[in-house]
Amino acid sequence: EKSSITLLGLGAMGAAFARTWLAAGHPLTVWNRTPARAEPLVAEGAKLAGTAAEAVAASDLVAVCLLDDASVGEALADADLTGKDLVNLTTGTPAQGRARAEWAEGRGARFLDGGIMAVPPMIGVPDSGAYVFYSGSRALFDARQGELAVPAGTVYVGEDPGYAALHDVALLSAMTGMFSGVAHAFALVRGEKDVSPKEFAPLLVGWLTAMAPYVYGVADHLESGDYTRGVTSNLAMMVQANGTLLRTAEDQGVGTELLTPFMGLMERRLADGHGDEGVTGVIDLLAR
Ligand code: NDP
Repeated sequence: EKSSITLLGLGAMGAAFARTWLAAGHPLTVWNRTPARAEPLVAEGAKLAGTAAEAVAASDLVAVCLLDDASVGEALADADLTGKDLVNLTTGTPAQGRARAEWAEGRGARFLDGGIMAVPPMIGVPDSGAYVFYSGSRALFDARQGELAVPAGTVYVGEDPGYAALHDVALLSAMTGMFSGVAHAFALVRGEKDVSPKEFAPLLVGWLTAMAPYVYGVADHLESGDYTRGVTSNLAMMVQANGTLLRTAEDQGVGTELLTPFMGLMERRLADGHGDEGVTGVIDLLAR
């Protein structure tokens, strides 16, 4: 007999989690603000609760996947959380994760915050690479490993309930930089009649993949405190090369606004006398 699970929130992501738990044979109680959205899941065997409080009462394990932290507070306002294992899969900031943990523990629950590193079609698909960062109650995580591992991989990052969101947001922030670089690269080649986006794409993917291990070098610099270790492309050379990137953008009629903030930081670090480093020193300049 599989353990029963309650899930609040049947948006794109919540519904994907619901399906995998149902398919794995877990009795599932669901609630959604707009009940009609639950119909396909009810047809697949889920039980629809009339209120969030009723849904919470139905299982010891309660997962929540709503739009934002405020909607979590609203949805759970009248629920009795005494003795519950509350797993919050809603994206938020680290501060929201910590405050929500204190709030849940004050109401008698164990609390785990989650940061989902996947899009809905990856959920429940073996080898899709989908996983969820979890932080907060280690006891909850250990006790519920079996259920949590059904929809996606699990990566526990610490007792501090803010750490799941911190890891999630750090990875998303790096992705934002990557998307920015990809946008600029396509802008440069767009309009060239002999460069097709589809032929250019694999070159870009290959290059970004080849450059990704740069991340390990940064980690080594930060841990050793020596930002010159293993540097093969030094800052002085790179700042020089930036000029080529900027001139090419201008020649191609492409704006430089995605490039210049980072290049400005590289120039500041060089001006501070760090020409023999890589670009790790930019991190020091970001500290507020
Ligand atoms: P959707 O917009 O598809 O669904 C939002 C859900 O929140 C719906 O169930 C909606 O109910 C509910 N909701 C919104 N406001 C309230 C409220 N005030 N009270 C009660 N319920 C409310 O979003 P997703 O399912 O895609 O996302 C859910 C969470 O998962 C978000 O925190 C998102 O950041 C996170 N996530 C999503 C990813 C994705 O690619 N989709 C990737 C990683 C994380 P109703 O049906 O009534 O509108």
